[in-house]
Amino acid sequence: MCAHPDDESFGLGAALAALAGAGASVSVLSLTRGEASTLHADADLASVRRDELAAAGRALGASHVLLLDHPDGGLDGVPLSVLAADVLDAARAARPDLLVAFDAEGVTGHADHRRATAAAVASARLLRVPVLAWGVAAEVATRLNAELGTAFSGRPSRAYDLEVVVDRARQLDAIACHRSQSAGNTVLWRRLELQGDLEHFTWLA
Ligand SMILES: [Zn+2]
Repeated sequence: MCAHPDDESFGLGAALAALAGAGASVSVLSLTRGEASTLHADADLASVRRDELAAAGRALGASHVLLLDHPDGGLDGVPLSVLAADVLDAARAARPDLLVAFDAEGVTGHADHRRATAAAVASARLLRVPVLAWGVAAEVATRLNAELGTAFSGRPSRAYDLEVVVDRARQLDAIACHRSQSAGNTVLWRRLELQGDLEHFTWLA
């Protein structure tokens, strides 16, 4: 689960594709429609990004994609109990054994990412399932921030619970589906380059 359409591909894509490829049933939940992005802001982003998410979900091998209409950029203004209830509603259909989310600090520095993970953790406690949190190594975050002026944060690579070698082929297919957000996205492509074929995860809740 994630805050914006594209987080499931740009961030969680390698993990979700690997899980689907291993036979798991993967459902994607985005809490917002991503309408506040500054990329292609002249387009009707809510509908463009809905369609992009549907295509990306297929590319990742997800069996369900659910898009809610909480305000992009405004998740901190939505009570955590409301967000957690939405996750629980979605979970009633998906019956998950595991939630996959961004790491607690939000990875990219976006407040919506932190809030989405807080909602995942709150609902996971009630569902009695673990949260597998995706992050970037602090070494990668530091390089990105120095080169591109971003606000990424990450744990030192040794502080993650899992370091996994991934095949990014399906993730890259899914990223291509999010054309409005991935074309010319220097930060995304540089981050993937710095990560190489390694992904880092930690257990929350
Ligand atoms: Zn996002």
